Amino acid sequence: MTQEKLLLIPGPTPVHPRIIQNLSLPTVSHVSPTMIEELKGALDNLKNIVFCKKGEAFIVAGAGTLAMEMALLNTVAIGERYLVLSQGYFGERMAQIGQSFGIEHDILQSSWGGAVLPEDLEQKLKDSTYAAIVCTHVDTATGACAPVKDYADIVSKHSSLFIIDGVCATGGIEERMDPWGVDVILTAAQKCFGTPPGLAILVFSEEAMAKRRTMGSIPAYYSDILRWLPIMKNPSKYFSTPCVNEIRAFFEGTRIILEEGIEERFLRHEKIARVFRAALSALGFSFFTQEPFLADTLSIVFYPEGIEDISFRKTLFGKGVVVAGGLGPVAGKVFRMGHMGNLSFSQVRFAVSALEDTLASLDYRFESGTGLKAAEKVLSAD
Ligand SMILES: *Cc1c(COP(=O)(O)O)cnc(C)c1O
Repeated sequence: MTQEKLLLIPGPTPVHPRIIQNLSLPTVSHVSPTMIEELKGALDNLKNIVFCKKGEAFIVAGAGTLAMEMALLNTVAIGERYLVLSQGYFGERMAQIGQSFGIEHDILQSSWGGAVLPEDLEQKLKDSTYAAIVCTHVDTATGACAPVKDYADIVSKHSSLFIIDGVCATGGIEERMDPWGVDVILTAAQKCFGTPPGLAILVFSEEAMAKRRTMGSIPAYYSDILRWLPIMKNPSKYFSTPCVNEIRAFFEGTRIILEEGIEERFLRHEKIARVFRAALSALGFSFFTQEPFLADTLSIVFYPEGIEDISFRKTLFGKGVVVAGGLGPVAGKVFRMGHMGNLSFSQVRFAVSALEDTLASLDYRFESGTGLKAAEKVLSAD
C-alpha cells in the first residue's frame, strides 16, 4: 500500500481527516438549503478569522492567483496606478497581472530575503498617489514575512486602499482587517486553512466595496465581485456553479480554526516555526531569510556542507516527508519547508525525526538526537 506522506511544502498543506470527510459528503444542489447554510457559514467564519465585521467575503472556485486578479481588478481602474511592495516572486506576479490588463503600477522591491521597509513606503507615498497599495504578506520563494501592520499604519494616512496577499499567511499569522484598516485580504484554501486546493478567497472592506461601485464596468466577467455579491448574500441565486464539495470542506476548515481559537492558532504557528528553526540549526542547517523577516509559516533552509539537494529530498520523501526545492537564485542550495495549517506537534516531532534519519542515511556526521532534543526544548517551554 502507498503510505501517505506528510506534506510540508508551501501548500497544499496536510488536510485534517475531518476536512477530508466533509469533502466526501454528497454533492448537493448548489442552491439547496444545505449549500445556502454552509456557504453562508463559511463566509461568516472567514470574516471572523480576518477580524472583519462589515465588508463582504467572497469564496469562488479558483486559486490564489485568481484571488490576486480579483483583488486588483475590482479596486484599481484602468488609468489609475497601484504600488506593489514586493519581496520577490508573488509581488512580481501582482505586477504582471496589472500589465495583462493595462493597469499601471510602480514597484518597491526589497532586498533578497527581506521585505520592503516601512520608511521606504512612507517616502514613496510622499511624492506619489496610488489607488491601491498591494503587498505580499509572506513570500513563498524567499520565506520573508512583511511588516504588514506597519504598512497599514502608513497607508491609513493616505487615500489609497491597502491590499494584502495573504495566501501564505491568512489564518496562520496575525492579519486584522478592521483594527488595522486593511481593505482587501486575498488568499486561497490550500495554505494556512489546511483545506484542499480549489478556492479563491477574498474579504473586501466597506471602503473597497464602495470603490468597486464607483468603477462601473471593469475588464472582468467571472472575476467581477459585483456579479458574485448577490450569490454571497443569498446562495439560492445563480451566477456560476459553486464547487459544492470544496465549500463544504472549507466550511469545516473554518470551524476547526475557530474551535482552536484564532489567537491560539497564531501562537501555535509561531511555536512550530521556532521548533523547526531550533532543530534545523542544531543539525547544521541555516536559513536564507534575513532574521527579522523569518516567517512563521515556512522556512527556506540552506543545506549544510556535503548535503546535496536532490538526494536529500528524495531520501526524506522515503522517510515520509515531502518538502519543496528552492526557487530562483537559491535553487539547488535550499529546500523550502511549509509549516502551516493544521499541523500538530506530533507531526512536527515526526518531521524532525525524519530529517535526522535522512541525514544519517546520507552519512552526514552529527550526533543522533541533536535535532529532536532542540525541538523538544522549544516544545516543552511555557
Ligand atoms: C501560493 C501563493 C500564491 C498563489 O496561489 P495559487 O493558489 O498557487 O494560485 C499567491 N501568493 C502567495 C503569497 C502565495 O504563497
